[in-house]
Order: sequence, then structure tokens, then C-alpha cells
Amino acid sequence: MSNHVFELSEVNKRVLQNINLTVNQGGRVMVFGPSGSGKSTLLHLFNRLEDPDSGEIKYQGQPIEDYNIPKLRKDVGLVLQQPYLFSETVIDNLKYGPKMFNEWDEAFVDELLDYVNLPKAYLDKPVEDLSGGEKQRVSLARTLANKPKVLLLDEPTSALDDQNIESIEEDLLKLMDAWQLTIIMVTHNLKQAMRLGTKGIYLESGKIVETGKLPNLIEHPQTDSLKNFTANQ
Ligand code: ADP
Ligand code: MG
Repeated sequence: MSNHVFELSEVNKRVLQNINLTVNQGGRVMVFGPSGSGKSTLLHLFNRLEDPDSGEIKYQGQPIEDYNIPKLRKDVGLVLQQPYLFSETVIDNLKYGPKMFNEWDEAFVDELLDYVNLPKAYLDKPVEDLSGGEKQRVSLARTLANKPKVLLLDEPTSALDDQNIESIEEDLLKLMDAWQLTIIMVTHNLKQAMRLGTKGIYLESGKIVETGKLPNLIEHPQTDSLKNFTANQ
């Protein structure tokens, strides 16, 4: 049995050209590259927010389109740069995903809040009353409430201050260890990529220009493109 969670073969989608890549079980994959290089498009392919124009994507050894979409998105959760919440209370947001599958487990709340460093007293707060950093942590907890196997993150800390960035990074490191969570994260912060990642993918104009282990990939780029990119960050 292969330990590949995802396998992309010759995938094309708009800007993305001939993408071949594998993501291992428990992998910590960081995707970076210039704006417009196709990072978000790539991320969206993993939970079928977008489908390839051509090529093949396998999830756990099966063609991704064989999975039921709500089930796939429960397994493969997405966290965006801007917190994605309903204008109700924190607990309403946490319950939403699991309730769709009749899997809401009251006992899981404490663990969830613990992971994202929020006190229990926050459960009944309306989300409008939270700070930006707190909203992003609730967003993360909302996705985690589904007990995903894979977490997709699209620049989740870009709108946050240093203290909140550190807090979210700590949450992610704890989770990756405790849940053997596979993460695929887009970040423009190369230091963050080295703190969190084990594998890096450098995209430019829709192509994977360089890929390799972190931090080595960023510290010792082989291509002129990645050398230029790292020098200008
Ligand atoms: P990145 O996240 O690296 O900044 P994106 O994946 O968002 O890049 O976008 C890659 C390219 O595809 C850009 O040129 C962008 O304008 C284009 N693009 C993204 N989404 C769409 C869409 N829904 N329809 C048409 N073009 C799009
Ligand atoms: Mg993007």
C-alpha cells in the first residue's frame, strides 16, 4: 500500500500546467510562489472546489471524483485567509459541520477549544464580538470540528499580527502531532514555511519549478527562479 494521500498526474487547470505531485500521509506541504502563480487554484483541487481541465487526481488511491463531495470536504477541510463564519455564536459555528452528518459530540468541544486556545466562556459569544485573531481561531476550530484527515490552508495567517500568527502556528504544530494530520498550506512567509513544513513546492506561472525537503529547499535553492524568489522575500 502506498502512503500517498494525494497523487496528481499531469493535471492542468487554467494557469496550472502539467502538475505531478504526491502528498504523503502526515505530510506537511508548504506551497509558495509569486502572486497569480496558481497556489490557490492548486489548493482548491484537493477538495473539489475546482476540478482539473485534464489529468488525474487520486485521493487515498481512488479517483477523487469517486467520493461524495460533502464527505470529501469533511475529510479534507479548508481554512482561508479571511475567517469564514456565520454571524451566530461560536458554538453554532462549531456544530455546523458535524451536525450535517449527525456526528456532533458535545464532549469534543473542550478539546477543540483547547487546540485553538479559546476559553470555554467564548462558546456563547456572537462571532461579531471577536477580534480578527479570535475569529481565525474559531474558523480553524470549525474546520477541525469535522475531524478532518487533511487540512488545506490558504495563507491563513496573512491578515494576522505576530502574536496571533505564533498562536495559530502552535495550534497547527500540536494538531499535526496529535492527529497525524496531513496539511497542505499556501504561505508567502518563507520562515513560516520552514517552521511548519517538511516538503516545499515552489510554483511559478502555474508550473512546479522546484520541490524538495524543508528547510533545505529554501536555504539552498537550485534554480535561478527560486534563488531570485527567496532573495526578494
Ligand atoms: P495565487 O493563489 O498563486 O495568487 P490563483 O490560483 O488565485 O493564484 O490564480 C492563478 C491565475 O488564475 C491568476 O491569473 C488568476 O487571475 C486566475 N484565476 C483564478 N481564479 C480564477 C477564476 N475563477 N476564473 C478565471 N481565472 C481565475
Ligand atoms: Mg491565492
